[in-house]
Amino acid sequence: MGRTVWIFGDQLTRLHTGLAAADKNQDVVFFAEPLATARERKYHKIKLVMLYSAMRHFAEDLQKTGWSVDYHLLAETETYAAALEKHLSRFASNEILAMEPNSWSESDLLRSLAKHFSLRLTTTPTWQFLVPRAEFAQFACGKKRLLMEHHYHATRVKFGILVDDAGRPEGGAWNFDSSNRKTLSDWKKDGSPLPPPSDRSPEDAIVRAVRSEVARHVPKAFGTAEKILPPVTRSQALKELDRFVKERLVHFGNYQDLMLADEAKMFHSLISAPLNLGLLDPLECVEAAVVAYEKGQAPLEAVEGFVRQIIGWREFVNGIYWLKMPAYVESNTLSATRDLPDFFYTGNTDMNCLRHVLAEVHTTGYNHHIQRLMVLGNFLLLAGISPQQAYAWFLEMYVDAYDWVMAANVLGMALHADGGFMATKPYAASGTYISKMGNYCSGCTYDPKIKVGAGACPYNLLYWDFFDRHAKRFAANPRTSMAVNAWRKRPSSDRDRIRHEAQAFLISLEEA
Ligand code: FAD
Ligand code: SF4
Repeated sequence: MGRTVWIFGDQLTRLHTGLAAADKNQDVVFFAEPLATARERKYHKIKLVMLYSAMRHFAEDLQKTGWSVDYHLLAETETYAAALEKHLSRFASNEILAMEPNSWSESDLLRSLAKHFSLRLTTTPTWQFLVPRAEFAQFACGKKRLLMEHHYHATRVKFGILVDDAGRPEGGAWNFDSSNRKTLSDWKKDGSPLPPPSDRSPEDAIVRAVRSEVARHVPKAFGTAEKILPPVTRSQALKELDRFVKERLVHFGNYQDLMLADEAKMFHSLISAPLNLGLLDPLECVEAAVVAYEKGQAPLEAVEGFVRQIIGWREFVNGIYWLKMPAYVESNTLSATRDLPDFFYTGNTDMNCLRHVLAEVHTTGYNHHIQRLMVLGNFLLLAGISPQQAYAWFLEMYVDAYDWVMAANVLGMALHADGGFMATKPYAASGTYISKMGNYCSGCTYDPKIKVGAGACPYNLLYWDFFDRHAKRFAANPRTSMAVNAWRKRPSSDRDRIRHEAQAFLISLEEA
């Protein structure tokens, strides 16, 4: 009797350990695109088209190399259970062989399906992350708070990345952020460098078929997938990585935090979507950047910054997810309950920074990190929006969004909903930060320099109102006590006015 080699849509990796353990002559590879899953949220069409196109390409490649594939297309099955039932009626199988799923709910699903259909369930380790879950749990053991930097150093040493034989960091420091993160005015002084325009991956019959199936069967999905699509094959993903290393890595660190109204990607890599699908491996991305450094094609500051994103932040957020689930996604330490404003879907807001960033994600399914954290996340944090509603919106919109990566980034880093487990201080900022790091403010109805009264930037009002609402909690935190003290030192008439105007702004969100 053969086995069912189960592949989820975000496990399209050449290093699939389930496939490595399977027997081509006996076992059958199972893929499904259940309609109910596609319809369970208002996912961006780009995300659905990317996912199913990538899955179908991967399945086709497996077939070409001799694997038997049982593929359940979007319109063919409602649920995973229905697809598996059909599969078992076609193939005699007594076991599901799966690589560790990337999410808690998928792990649960496999366990319950195996039980329901009386199948043995065997899981093999994943190579989509460099640090096994048990190893992260060991690192976290006994710690009240976790620091990404500590985990990052250990991972770099373990894999020998930018370290010498004695485990000392290349260039004498682990982190070169002080020479990165230039402001808008630094960028202008540097001659306003911009990256070359991006290419669009060529479309084929698979993509065209998926696009029309998504339009027909998931009509309520968000937006359109006509204009842009992230890589859906490994060769397209490798091309994207190569273009980044050749064209943008050199400035990656310098302008990592810069936000421009007319240039969405800046010098970022755009690899999160193919990396999270499994089309790229984390180590090969890091190695490509290190080779560029060794050849003198990119400075250490840029290369270390990029390496830190992948083996630092990416591994860290995945570790936290497995450490803290399933309760983590329900966290709401700041008791934020306001509804997500409609303009997150419509883009209709007169706040220029938000309007631009929302327009970009509505058209492409992508924003870079600082746009996500300091424009969107910052607004949601300051306005006290429900973390669970915010989380659902991020999951729907972004081409790279999955539970394992969203949990710590959205709930921990952006919304401080975990009470500071993931980030010791909330990423709260006024309009001054946004005006320093981007060029949105010059075209805005509001003025980042006005703190209260006509034309005051809403981020300014909300920033102080946030520290007023949470003064007790943040006065006790050495990293935020300065903000609370500054608030408390303001004349009480000022404070009353800010509270009043912030309140009026928040009520206007509900009425909009
Ligand atoms: P680059 O800036 O070029 O970075 C290189 C790579 O490093 C990324 O592709 C990614 O794989 C990794 N990386 C960098 N920062 C992080 C991080 N904080 N967590 C995990 N990986 C990281 N990343 C996702 O992959 N999916 C998400 O759904 C997602 N949602 C986010 C939501 C919020 C509120 C915030 C603050 C961050 C989120 N991130 C998410 C992290 C980060 O913003 C994206 O990985 C990055 O913007 C993707 O663009 P890029 O490939 O051009 O990345
Ligand atoms: Fe955003 Fe405020 Fe600047 Fe307008 S003034 S773009 S709302 S930060």
